[in-house]
Amino acid sequence: MTYKIENIVLVLGEKSTVNSVRKSGGNLINNLVELHHEDQLASHVLSDNPSLIVIEESFINGIADKLDTIFSKAPGLRFMPIAIISDDLKNLTNSFSSIICNVKFIETDNGGKDLESYIRQSLQKSVRVKFWGVRGSTPCANSENIGYGGNTSCVEIEIPGKEELLILDSGTGIRNLGNHITQYQNKKITGQIFITHPHWDHIQGFPFFKPFYDRENEFSVRMPMQFRGGTEEILSGHLTKTFFPVTLDMLDAKINYITQEETAEEFSGYSVDYMVANHPTKTAIYRFKIDDYTIVYAPDNELPLSSSPLRFLDKFKEFIRDCDILIHDGQFDMNKYQERIGWGHTAWERAVEVAKECGVKRLYITHHDPDSKDRDLDEISKDLERLNGNSFTEVMLAKEGVDIKLPVSA
Ligand SMILES: [Zn+2]
Ligand SMILES: [Zn+2]
Repeated sequence: MTYKIENIVLVLGEKSTVNSVRKSGGNLINNLVELHHEDQLASHVLSDNPSLIVIEESFINGIADKLDTIFSKAPGLRFMPIAIISDDLKNLTNSFSSIICNVKFIETDNGGKDLESYIRQSLQKSVRVKFWGVRGSTPCANSENIGYGGNTSCVEIEIPGKEELLILDSGTGIRNLGNHITQYQNKKITGQIFITHPHWDHIQGFPFFKPFYDRENEFSVRMPMQFRGGTEEILSGHLTKTFFPVTLDMLDAKINYITQEETAEEFSGYSVDYMVANHPTKTAIYRFKIDDYTIVYAPDNELPLSSSPLRFLDKFKEFIRDCDILIHDGQFDMNKYQERIGWGHTAWERAVEVAKECGVKRLYITHHDPDSKDRDLDEISKDLERLNGNSFTEVMLAKEGVDIKLPVSA
């Protein structure tokens, strides 16, 4: 058993639905599990770690609550796409809360074409970028934040055919990632962890990553050189007995601490380089090249409103030009930004403007302010879509539990 995508599909419905899912997915489906009663759902979702669930409309009563309960036990499963299918979708959407964020309602009255394309899109071999934590500054555990998520920065990139984990930042979101992996993985775990900088919101989850407490596991942890030392000095300073009962030498896994240079480095299956962000401590903007895709991760970076004397903006624009994915700081809106110039964060409007100018294909605004409630972020989200939907392949606010798929050739 592994936590990686294995293209297991659960179908809750009549025989005819099962057959049409099987036909639509074809050889993309490795294992199709037929369920004919709602009560079977929870145990299968938890044990099978499916890649997709398809639920027929007539089985939908009470399903939202059931899924909510399942996800509270296993938050990593929130990334799983769920298709609710019906030949008439009216009145269905209201029974689902915003917590279940990957639900898609699909009408089947067009001969199943939409269902087929959704199944294929969900299961095709892809580089997957998963948001485990999207909050800036401090975690916020309020009910009004739960839709977008209250955990701080953590992103996972999953590369097809690659067992090794690729993790960006170790904010509190990394705890759910670790729990998810240990729930489904029964063999050695290896990984590379790239920390942008040691502000609390990017390292607070570090000692809560369960795979660190197994001597079989192996990781490398990187961050840029800081004023007070390299990666090991900084993290051991964070984990001293004064602040936390666990010190670095109490972690069981073999961990290699590396101070990241500003030069390109090759790994099997990808390469990475970084430029220094405009932020109060030395902070990396990481750029990954995977397959033919370029992914830039800049959760903490202030984009000034005009070019600074240091030509930072020019360098940044060159660095992100034509990238496939830009995950960028948009902690404030323009009004709030005017009061916080120089704090090291960006107004989302400015991030959109610069990304557009540089030909970024998909833009994800992250590092949401802890004071931004779901309804505030929903408003921004609507504006983003309305004003900029046509300028990007996708533009949205990053949300915990959402993954982005970049298809790769088989
Ligand atoms: Zn931050
Ligand atoms: Zn920071």
